[in-house]
Amino acid sequence: MVRFVGVQNTVRWIRSTGLETILGELSDYVADDYRRWESFDKSPRAASHSPIGVIELMPTSDGQLYSFKYVNGHPSNPAKGLQTVTAFGVLSDVDSGYPLLVAEMTLLTALRTAATSAMAAKYLAQPDSTTMAMIGAGTQAEFQAIAVREALGIRSLRVFDTDPAASAKLVRNLTPLGFDVYVAEDSADAASGADVITTCTADKANATVLTDDMVGPGVHVNAIGGDCPGKTELDAAILRRGDVFVEFPEQTRIEGEIQQVEADFPVTELWEVVSGKTVGRSSADQVTVFDSVGFAIEDFSVLRYLHDKTNHSAFSVDIDLVADPDDPKDLFGFAQGSDAPVPAL
Ligand code: NAD
Repeated sequence: MVRFVGVQNTVRWIRSTGLETILGELSDYVADDYRRWESFDKSPRAASHSPIGVIELMPTSDGQLYSFKYVNGHPSNPAKGLQTVTAFGVLSDVDSGYPLLVAEMTLLTALRTAATSAMAAKYLAQPDSTTMAMIGAGTQAEFQAIAVREALGIRSLRVFDTDPAASAKLVRNLTPLGFDVYVAEDSADAASGADVITTCTADKANATVLTDDMVGPGVHVNAIGGDCPGKTELDAAILRRGDVFVEFPEQTRIEGEIQQVEADFPVTELWEVVSGKTVGRSSADQVTVFDSVGFAIEDFSVLRYLHDKTNHSAFSVDIDLVADPDDPKDLFGFAQGSDAPVPAL
């Protein structure tokens, strides 16, 4: 039988374990997989674009486990009462090819994106960072803020969203968790005095939510929302002034902020920093940019983590997904069924 962790069980698991604990442990899982980056199969995700959105498949394997995620990105969905990003995914055993786990991944995507941002901030931001700006207060925002607080201990959050209701929701959700939240008038106001700036907006456009003059010396930028061809958030001058860190260059050059610059624009792969092969931040004044698009290995990490934590628990259930005849060559006989009466449909 294949284990299944659906939406309600994911919610129960998060509530019983604690979001901070999950984000901290998941950051460690992502970092462990980044350290063995070279042992994974890697390819840019397969994207099917429409004028208003994208549907993507994201596969990878470390030779023992295989995973893929189905994910969409539709920035106009919230106006229809739907989410911008939803997802589900599978973790399989490479030796048999049999799936082990099927999981909802809308929540898991928010968790793994936040855990990866936190890992990037831990390696690239100034360790004494106290203030974070959050530009875009939608679905991902609270997860991003909590994960970066876990990694750096930031205390103040400055938020800006073009939708005041989204900022109000974030204040409502994060103030009880001890965040000191300031609602800014615009992006410049949010970025003012911030040590870490996270851009997490959704618009299928080459937007400029952050201009170069808003980014002070020493700032670390987590650029999350630019993740599709023709969908960016940063002024290209920020990329030229700072040092840019990416997941998988072959995918990021198509989808990330660096689609705005020349094809051989120099970048550093984040796994090289995490594994100690290269230096991340080298001076207090350096501007660092994590050009995040979301990579399959992060989905692999969160599925591996979820499987480890829920496989033998009540948070996952068996589902009847794989036909399993007693004689593996007699699928036909299996399809005839047993002698038990067939219920009327
Ligand atoms: P969402 O639609 O729930 O939230 C986006 C928010 O951005 C909305 O509240 C919207 O009002 C706001 N916004 C739009 N334009 C703005 C602007 N110019 N200035 C300020 N606010 C603005 O989307 P979400 O699920 O939170 O995702 C945010 C972005 O992150 C999306 O673009 C999504 O594709 C991307 N994403 C990236 C990753 C990754 O791994 N890098 C993972 C998940 C989502």
